[in-house]
Amino acid sequence: MRIDVVTIFPEYLAPLGVSLIGKAAERRVLEIRTHDLRQWTSDVHRTVDDSPYGGGPGMVMKPEPWGDALDAITANPLPESPEVAPTLVVPTPSGRPFTQAKAAELAERSWLIFACGRYEGIDRRAIEAAADRMPVEELSLGDYVLAGGEVAVLVMVEAIGRLLPGVLGNADSARDDSFAAGPMESLLEGPVYTKPAQWRGRGVPEILTSGNHGAIARWRRDQALARTVANRPELLARLDPVTLDKYDRATLAGLGWEVRDGRVERTEAEDFVDKQGS
Ligand code: SAM
Repeated sequence: MRIDVVTIFPEYLAPLGVSLIGKAAERRVLEIRTHDLRQWTSDVHRTVDDSPYGGGPGMVMKPEPWGDALDAITANPLPESPEVAPTLVVPTPSGRPFTQAKAAELAERSWLIFACGRYEGIDRRAIEAAADRMPVEELSLGDYVLAGGEVAVLVMVEAIGRLLPGVLGNADSARDDSFAAGPMESLLEGPVYTKPAQWRGRGVPEILTSGNHGAIARWRRDQALARTVANRPELLARLDPVTLDKYDRATLAGLGWEVRDGRVERTEAEDFVDKQGS
């Protein structure tokens, strides 16, 4: 996969040269090119921003450097498949959520260009002009506002990159991750343990050292259900009940949840207690 990142702070992307993603780049699974947006400015101050039309606080990134940057980068297609159009990824808090499913979808593409916004964001026309030529994904990391897109790109490239074949030492380790199964089957991963068997007076759950793989799988599934109930109950409501066997349903019942009218919901008794309490 080829990744181009356009930013006014190329040094901010240095962590992409480290650890899993850095090693993948060394092995040429990934090719990451970072570009300084200011090389596509034409004034002596290398200006990339201006005041917003309509007034208001802050500055807006000018469309010209972005247009020229995308022209220059896309003029250099993939040598092995020159017909492939890149996908432009624009991190923005006003975008659609960046999820594990989106990471998996983007991991299938051969070429991604990331546009790191700063200030109040990028002039809309630059995004619209790009969308005339290539798929554009405007994606948000979450419901909070960062100072710039660089941190979002670090997150997205790591999430996408670790799904590429040959990046993780053991490809199976992505399979059991939280969210790996997609929105209709997503449970959070339960707790994990390693050696020593005793640490500061704390042991590990006995089942994990039993060698009984069926029982261990069941225990892990129960832990995943319990953690999802505790931390992200809204994920349960999205679960397809078809993915729940009778043991799952028994565990959920113990946690105050049940399958009702084809949906996973809190048991009526729990709802009743909540309503009385509030
Ligand atoms: N005025 C913009 C708004 O409220 O939508 C916020 C701009 S923010 C200060 C500057 C840049 O940080 C954005 O253009 C985007 O690149 C990045 N950014 C901030 N929050 C983000 C988030 N939650 N997800 C992805 N990118 C984000």
